[in-house]
Amino acid sequence: MIKASTYTFKILRYDAKAPDKKPRFATYRIAVIPGLTVLAVLLRIRDEIDGTLSYRCSCRSAVCGSCAMVINGKIDLACRTQVSAFNTDTIILEPLPNFEVIRDLVVDITPFWNMYEKVRPYLIRHSAVPDREIPQSEAERLRIDQFVNCILCACCYGACPVIAREPDYIGPAAAAKLERFVLDSRDERPADTLEILNNEKGVWACDTLFRCIDACPKDVRPTDAIVGLRKALVKNRFQNLLGKKKDEA
Ligand code: SF4
Repeated sequence: MIKASTYTFKILRYDAKAPDKKPRFATYRIAVIPGLTVLAVLLRIRDEIDGTLSYRCSCRSAVCGSCAMVINGKIDLACRTQVSAFNTDTIILEPLPNFEVIRDLVVDITPFWNMYEKVRPYLIRHSAVPDREIPQSEAERLRIDQFVNCILCACCYGACPVIAREPDYIGPAAAAKLERFVLDSRDERPADTLEILNNEKGVWACDTLFRCIDACPKDVRPTDAIVGLRKALVKNRFQNLLGKKKDEA
């Protein structure tokens, strides 16, 4: 028989609409068998103990990215975090930082989507529409592989110290998405579209502390994208200067 261990779950509760808006920790004692995830426990608490507990979830497979939260001080997806992964019998759950809390573990991720939209996160082409798919070589696909894996969970956004002090910063996920299309052999966006991030709220704002890399559950490594975009901007600048010099000669 599988032996269950009892854990104490402390969950930060808060309701932005409640007259008394003070956040408070609610405590739940739950018997957990090995292999159970934090999300499985949250589902159990809501189903069996407290139906008012709020959190987001959907796929339970680290694909939809909706159950991002702070688990014992580390940002991660609740569905891929096993309760037994921690060297303690107390699990503390808090909402994702850098966002307004709507209720309990549910945050308003509108700012994240606003930044995402800014980089035009889709294939842009100016050539005539082909009558069949545009093939890519294996090498071309490998160039974008790491960035394609992004599930838009916002873990990196929550972990970013620059966003904490500068909410208008574009953020790691949007930069990774832009790099994903810049490196895509099928994309035809002009080089000057990168200029949207060529400022103190764009790629130059990054402190390169790698917190986004630590927080990302999909190894997207957004800092790599930021470095790649910085290099592309510098290259564009030199090419423009060289072009001007040639015209003057
Ligand atoms: Fe989530 Fe990683 Fe994408 Fe950021 S880069 S949104 S952490 S998957």
